Amino acid sequence: MSEQRCMICQGELELQRVTRAQEYEGRWVVIENLPALVCRQCGERYYTPDAHDLVVALIQGHGSPARTETIEVYDAARVA
Ligand SMILES: [Zn+2]
Repeated sequence: MSEQRCMICQGELELQRVTRAQEYEGRWVVIENLPALVCRQCGERYYTPDAHDLVVALIQGHGSPARTETIEVYDAARVA
């Protein structure tokens, strides 16, 4: 894993747990503590195939939400 480099800046990648917001079939879900490789230099995140499978499993109903939040949605096109 130490051989993997950032595709943008060639920085070193570090395994971290991150919070990811994801749109799925018209609704937004948030996944906390998702493992991802994060670039130490630019902060770009790379999700492993395992992490992707985990997200799909969770939002397709194989897990129950830890809690429910209300999210404010803004439309930038409506700013005068
Ligand atoms: Zn980078």
